[in-house]
Formats: sequence, C-alpha cells, structure tokens
Amino acid sequence: MSEHPPVILWFRRDLRLADNPALQQACEGGQAVLPVFVLDEEGEGDWPEGAASKWWLHHSLSALDKDLRELGSRLLLLKGAADEALAKLCGETGASGVFWNRRYEPSIVARDTALKKRLAEQGVQVRSFNGSLLQSPLSVTNKSGTPFKVFTPFWKHIQNLGTREPLGKPQALAAPASWPKGEALESFGLLPQLDWADAFGEEWTPGERGGQVALAVFRERYVGKYSQQRDTPAVRGVSRLSPHLHFGELSPNQGWYAMDRQEHEPYLRQIAWREFAHHLLFHFTDTPAKPLRPEFEAFPWKPDSRLLEAWQKGQTGYPIVDAGMRELWKTGWMHNRVRMIASSFLVKHLLQPWQAGAQWFWDTLVDADLANNTMGWQWVAGCGADAAPYFRIFNPITQGERFDGGGDYTRKWVPEIAGLPDKYLFKPWEAPANVLEKAGIDLGNTYPKPIVDHPRARQAALDAYAAMKA
Ligand SMILES: Cc1cc2nc3c(=O)[nH]c(=O)nc-3n(C[C@H](O)[C@H](O)[C@H](O)COP(=O)(O)OP(=O)(O)OC[C@H]3O[C@@H](n4cnc5c(N)ncnc54)[C@H](O)[C@@H]3O)c2cc1C
Repeated sequence: MSEHPPVILWFRRDLRLADNPALQQACEGGQAVLPVFVLDEEGEGDWPEGAASKWWLHHSLSALDKDLRELGSRLLLLKGAADEALAKLCGETGASGVFWNRRYEPSIVARDTALKKRLAEQGVQVRSFNGSLLQSPLSVTNKSGTPFKVFTPFWKHIQNLGTREPLGKPQALAAPASWPKGEALESFGLLPQLDWADAFGEEWTPGERGGQVALAVFRERYVGKYSQQRDTPAVRGVSRLSPHLHFGELSPNQGWYAMDRQEHEPYLRQIAWREFAHHLLFHFTDTPAKPLRPEFEAFPWKPDSRLLEAWQKGQTGYPIVDAGMRELWKTGWMHNRVRMIASSFLVKHLLQPWQAGAQWFWDTLVDADLANNTMGWQWVAGCGADAAPYFRIFNPITQGERFDGGGDYTRKWVPEIAGLPDKYLFKPWEAPANVLEKAGIDLGNTYPKPIVDHPRARQAALDAYAAMKA
C-alpha cells in the first residue's frame, strides 16, 4: 500500500493487463494505481451495450477483477456519468492523474475530450494512449491527406507504417492506501433476466485468459488452414476472437505478433479490416445511422415488422439464413460467411433497411462493435466504403450449397429439416411430397414455406435500386 496519492487507471474497452499502454505508463510512475471501471450507459450515446454485450461485459469485469487481485489490487466499480464519477473520484482520493486507452467512436471522443479539459482544470494530469488499434486513426491518411475509402491501399499503408510490439504484463500493482466505496458487479444488472444466454457460457470464456487461450489454440491448430476453411461455417476455420478484440481482452498487436507476417497474411488482412472499419467510423462519424454514399438515402426500403421478425427468429424458410440467425440467437455469434448471406437477405430479398438489421445484430452479438457492424451492414447494403455493388445479390440457395455443401451447419441449427437429402436441403419447397414426408417435414407447419420467392425478390431488389438511381 502506498500513502501517496494514486493515479487512476480508467479501464474501458481494454479489459486486459498485458499489452496495455495506459496501465504500463501508470505503473512506471511508481505511484499507487487505482483501477476503475465506470458503467455509463448514457455516455455511450445512441449505442449503449446490447444485451449480448452486457452478458460478456459482466463476465469480463469479473475476470479482470480476479486478475487484478492476483497482482495485489482489484477493480473499483462505479456507475453513472463517467465524467462526474471520475471528477468526484479524483477529488475523493486526491489522485494526481487519470490514464486511459482511447476509444475512437465519435460520441466517446467528444465525451472524453470534454472530460480531459475538465480534469485538467481540476489540476489532474490526463494521459491517453492507443491500445485498441494497430495505428491511431489520426495518424493514418492517404497521399492527399484525406481518409482512405478503399481497403487495398489502406492495407498497404498499414503494412508500411509497421506496428508496435506488444508490451508485457505488470508483475505487481501498488494498491492505494484506502479503497473508495464502489458498486457490486451484480448491481450493474448486466445479466439477462431470461434464460436466453444460458448457452453462452458453454461457447465462450470472457476475459484476458480466455482471449489468450483462444489465440493460442487458433495459432496452433487452425490458422494454417485459414484461407481454405474461413468460408466454411461447419468447421472451426476462423479464430472466434472478435469479442475478445472488441472488449480489448486481447489487443490487435498481440494477434498480429502471434502470426507469421507472410504465411498468415490472409488472417492479418482481417485484422486490418477491423482497423479499416475503425478508420471509417472515426472519419465518417454519422455512418452508424446514415449511408456513406448519400444517394442511398433515397433508397425505397419497405419496412415491414412481420418480415423483420421472421428474419430475427430464423423463420424465413431459407435454411442457410435461418441457420445463421439461430446460431446468433443461441451463441451470440454468427460465422462471417453466414453474416453476409443473412444480412444480404434482409436488405435485398426483404427490402428492410440495413439499420434495422444492424440494430438486431447490436443487441444479439457478443462481438457487437460499432465500427465493424456499421461497415459490415453498409458493405452488404452497397452503400458503404469499398462495398459490394448493390446489384450483386447473393442467392441464398446456391450460397448454402456452396459454403455448406455437406449440410452439417444447416442441419445443426435447423434440425427440423435435418432429414432432407442434400439435394433439397437449401430449397425444401422443391422436395417432392414423399421426400418431405420421409424427412418428417410438413412444410408451412414444421418449417416455414419461403417467405419470399427468390427470383421475384431479386427482381424487386433490382427495381428498387433502379428507382433510387432514377
Ligand atoms: C453484416 C455484418 C455485421 C458484422 N458485425 C460485426 C460486429 O458487430 N463486430 C465484429 O467484430 N465484426 C462484425 N462483422 C465482421 C465479421 O463477421 C466478424 O468480425 C467475424 O465473423 C468474427 O469472427 P472471427 O473472430 O472468427 O473472425 P476471423 O475471421 O478469425 O478474423 C479475425 C478478426 O478480424 C476482424 N475481422 C474479421 N472480418 C472482419 C470484417 N469483415 N470486418 C471487420 N473486422 C473483421 C475481427 O476482429 C476478427 O475477430 C460483421 C460482418 C457483417 C457482414
């Protein structure tokens, strides 16, 4: 314990001890360190954590507290407006400084900038660091000094800039002489009332250790086959590191340095897509709500709560779409290939606004991330940076056949049609009556008939696009 005034380490989306620049700097001063997390739902602006993220956050905070206790410290939990809570905490403890790793979402940047000023006026030193991206978005611009809007030149640029090697983990943390009163984690009310998230615990281990294990397992067993298997949802071909990266239990630098620059380039490229998404959100601040390409503001969407709900529940009658939506509901995650198919189906086949899909993903994904989710949805809807052209419309039947040829993924998540032969698995409505009967399917009762007709829906999407252009 130290009698000197502490420095406050404000944990945010950097819920780890290793490779944590703010923590390292806080320790270097030799003062006591007061680790704090503030639950500030209003401070998140229009995007307070969704239900699945809250589940994750609860367990991640619990894990961080445990890890801090092993270093002789612990995590102080506070609730309410972060600026008020921190200003008050500085007053109470006489803290000489507040250190944090930056977040780059627009509303957070605005809040933190104001807080910096306020604390400085109070005589408190504020130091902030980049702990969540390979490069701070401020330092990345193209040759003309403007933000990148195309991925490939961005990727080349990032590679040329080089990256920071990961930092170690402190061996001990000097605790403050006394601990201010904090909240109990349970009082945050982050866990859902319903039993909906019960299976999440079997799928995930939130926290820094969980992230490290997931990275090591992926590095040892799977990254070598990433290029061949990353589009096959039935096999373990991808890293499933996204929630760990989102909550900062793992830094992108740790992921980057765990891999071989040449051999694992396809994987590092994906880390760079994450980086690109943050770059876009930082520079194009209204894109969570508005299309990056303004002409899409005139797109004739046809909002329909019945269609939206069928999609959310995995009851569209298109098996690969339904499989993805049910995987999402059950596990809080969906494979990237299926995210692309399911989201495309919503915006093109069902003509529902991409914002409605983004909102659902926000609430149900454990890796819900404002930058990645916004870029993903705008990419699919054709209205974002470097986006898929709108007129390229995924066919949910052939996509299923191509990426889940053996049907294992679809049969797992849509068990009521598991008995269908492969030939009809992605188009049960084409199966003859005796085949359906043999598989125990009463189409329209045990599994829905297709909610829209693919060729007609495709044409309607193209017509809507033409209407927008006109
Ligand atoms: C409509 C839509 C919405 C999405 N919403 C999110 C979201 O809210 N949060 C999220 O983290 N990802 C989102 N993605 C991107 C992608 O689907 C996930 O990052 C990926 O499926 C996570 O699984 P993984 O960790 O196994 O990925 P891996 O393939 O192992 O990739 C490694 C890491 O790279 C990053 N990454 C991979 N693909 C992308 C991508 N296309 N865009 C940005 N970063 C990427 C992720 O951080 C990921 O953990 C979305 C994609 C789409 C099409």
